[in-house]
This record gives sequence, structure tokens and C-alpha cells, in this order.
Amino acid sequence: MRIVFLGPPGAGKGTQAEILSKEKKLQHISSGNLLRDAVENGTETGLKAKQYIEKGQLVPDQIVVDIIRDRILDKDCRNGFLLDGFPRTLAQAKALDEMLKKLGNKLDIVFYFVVSKESIVLRLSGRRICSACGANYHTKFVPSVKDGICDKCGGKLYQRADDKLETVQERIRIYHEQTEDLIEYYKKNGILKEIESETDIKTITKKIFNVIKDASQNEPLINFGVA
Ligand code: AMP
Repeated sequence: MRIVFLGPPGAGKGTQAEILSKEKKLQHISSGNLLRDAVENGTETGLKAKQYIEKGQLVPDQIVVDIIRDRILDKDCRNGFLLDGFPRTLAQAKALDEMLKKLGNKLDIVFYFVVSKESIVLRLSGRRICSACGANYHTKFVPSVKDGICDKCGGKLYQRADDKLETVQERIRIYHEQTEDLIEYYKKNGILKEIESETDIKTITKKIFNVIKDASQNEPLINFGVA
């Protein structure tokens, strides 16, 4: 299966993607993580992307499309993947369709996470990430047992620089300006599934699970560990 997670920053896409990818049947491809890795490794792409990420702006389409194309072509993506944070513009969505067409594939489902601006700000301001394994936490909703330390690997937790309030507001503004167009695009394609995401993590996972179950009908695909 080829799935896209679409929605504003802080809608819970990364958390849900982590849960689904644990099952190993779908590779979790986060454009944000790929770009942050490139910045950290000081690659040419990373140097170009850094200034945009720091300001909460979108990295130019061509850079992101190239990075995603390379990843999708990896062997481990042949059986399916879950794109988190890509596409974010109409040009990226069209480039993705082209890429998949060349591979004889297409997208199966686009999940659209719907959440209020107030929740986004609350979620992002409390978000903490493990510097070693990338696990997601939240100071209020999903706290680690030991303050600032990852439960899974003992790594140090940090707050992303672009999760600070001013940058969050800019990211939300850009989401409305550039990414909302995609909702219509995928609606017209008939593959958009709206997921109301104000509720808790487990309830959202269940909703996603039900949609996938319906879509794959007879194919016993994934056990998400929820009833
Ligand atoms: P995220 O982790 O998805 O919130 O992405 C963090 C930042 O990476 C964004 O604010 C953008 O600067 C950049 N980025 C991630 N994905 C994309 C994309 N598909 N197109 C353009 N920029 C992106």
C-alpha cells in the first residue's frame, strides 16, 4: 500500500506514522526527517534546506522531490510506504503521481488529519524528540518516565527549533497558503479520507485502521495492536 499523511504540522501525523511503520509492512518516509538528517550531515541538500526550515518556510519543491524520489526507489519501499509531510504543494503532488506512474504504481489512500489551530499550538509547544532514536514525546500528553530522557533508548530529548511559537505560527500560515490546495486535488482523485484528529492517539489509530481495513477488503494487511 502507498499512503500519504496530509495535515497541518502538529496534527499527529508523525506519531501515527510511527505506530503503523512498527508493523514493518510500510516504510515510514518523513520528508521533515530526511531534510533534518541532510542538514545535520552537512550535505549539499542540507545546506540549501537549512535556511528555509529554520524560518518555518517550505524548502523548494525540486529539492524535496529529489530527496523523496531517491528514497522511494530504495528496495525496502517496494512493498509499500507511508509518506509523512510530503507532498505539501500541488507541484509536489503532481511530481509524486508521475514518479509512481513510472513505477507502475499509484497512491491508495491520502489521510487528511483535521485539527484546530489551538490544538496544534499546544501539541507542538510540548513536543519533545529523542536525539538518538527519534521517538516522539509530549511534556503533557506523552511524557517520558524520566524528565528529558527517552524511555526506549535512554537518549536525550530535545525540542525542535521550529517548534517555537513564532515559527509554529509561520508554519500554520504556510500550511493554509500552500498545502490546503492538496485537499481538493486528492478529493477529486477520490482517495482522500478525512480523520478527525482532536481525540487521543489510540482513537485516531483505530480510525486509520478501519479505513485501511475497508480499503484492502479481503487482504489481511496489518495488525495495529488495537482492538
Ligand atoms: P515537518 O517535520 O514535516 O514539520 O517539516 C519540517 C520542515 O521541513 C518544514 O517546516 C519545511 O521547512 C521542511 N519540509 C518538510 N517537508 C517538506 C515538503 N514536503 N516541502 C517543503 N518543505 C518541507
